[in-house]
Amino acid sequence: MDLWYTENHTDDVKFSLKVDRQLATCQSDFQRIDIFESKEFGRILTLDGYLMVTEKDEYIYHEMITHIPLATNPDIRKVLVVGGGDGGTVRELARYKHIEKIDMVEIDEKVVELCKEYLPTLSCSLDDERVTIYYEDGMKFVRNTPDSNYDLIIVDSTDPFGVGEGLFTKEFYGNCFRSLTDDGILVNQHESTFYDSYANSMKRAHSRIKDFFSTALVYQAHIPTYPSGHWLFGFASKKFDPRRDLKAEWWNSLGLVTKYYNTILHTGCFAIPNNVRNTLRETYK
Ligand code: SAM
Repeated sequence: MDLWYTENHTDDVKFSLKVDRQLATCQSDFQRIDIFESKEFGRILTLDGYLMVTEKDEYIYHEMITHIPLATNPDIRKVLVVGGGDGGTVRELARYKHIEKIDMVEIDEKVVELCKEYLPTLSCSLDDERVTIYYEDGMKFVRNTPDSNYDLIIVDSTDPFGVGEGLFTKEFYGNCFRSLTDDGILVNQHESTFYDSYANSMKRAHSRIKDFFSTALVYQAHIPTYPSGHWLFGFASKKFDPRRDLKAEWWNSLGLVTKYYNTILHTGCFAIPNNVRNTLRETYK
C-alpha cells in the first residue's frame, strides 16, 4: 500500500510526497498539526495540511532567513522571532555567540511540543539560555513591545490566512518598525510570485512594508517543497542595504559552516528575475 501526502498548490496543481507513516496528528486550539516520516524528505511538519518544513530542505529556508541580516549588521544583539515554532530559525540564530537575547513569540505551544519530540534537529536550540518563548499572538505581542527594543525581527510565519493573517497587516509592520532600533532589520517569509494566489498576498505585504521602511527589498531562494520551488524573503531596514553593507570578511571569519548561504550568494540572491521585478515594479524601477 502506498501512502501519499498531497498539498494543493493551486486549485489545479497538486504536490505529493510518498510517506512511510504518520508520526503524530493533533488538533490544537489554533490548527491541525501533522508530522510524517518519508524516505526522500525525512520528517515533515504540516499545519492545516500545508507543508511547513521537511528535514531535507529546511536548511535553505532557515539559513536564508537568518544569515542575510546577521551578515549585514554584526551588532545584532537582541532578536525577536515571530512564529518559528519548529525551532529552525532559533537554531541558526543560536550559532552566533554575540547574540545576547532571542525572544520567540509562537501562538501555538503544541507546535513547539511536537517539534521538540519529533524534529530535534530543528528544535535543538529552543532550550538555549538566551531563548525565551512567549506563547501568544505575535501581532498582539509587538503591539505591546516597547519602542526600539530589538535589533532584528524575523517573521517566520505561516501563510497570510488563519492564525498567520495578522502578521501580514499594516498594523503589524508598523509595530515592528516602532519596536526596532534605528539600526533595526525586519526579515519575513515573503511568499512567492509564481502562482497568482501567492503573488497577490506577497504584493500586498510588500507594499505595506514599503510604507514604513526606507529600504524594502526581496531576495530569493530555491526551496524544492514550497509552491513553485521559488521562494522569496523580505528585507526591510531603516538604515542598511544588505547588498552594500554586507560584512563578508567579518562573517567568514566566524567560521560558520552552512549548506546553502555564503557571502557570494548574499548579494546574488537580491538579483531578482524579471517576473518578480514586474510584480514589484514600483520598487525596482
Ligand atoms: N517555514 C515555515 C513556512 O513558511 O512554511 C514557517 C513554519 S513555522 C512552523 C510557522 C509558525 O508560525 C507556526 O508554528 C504557527 O503556529 C506560527 N504562527 C502563525 N500565526 C502566528 C501568530 N499570529 N503569532 C505567532 N505565531 C504564529
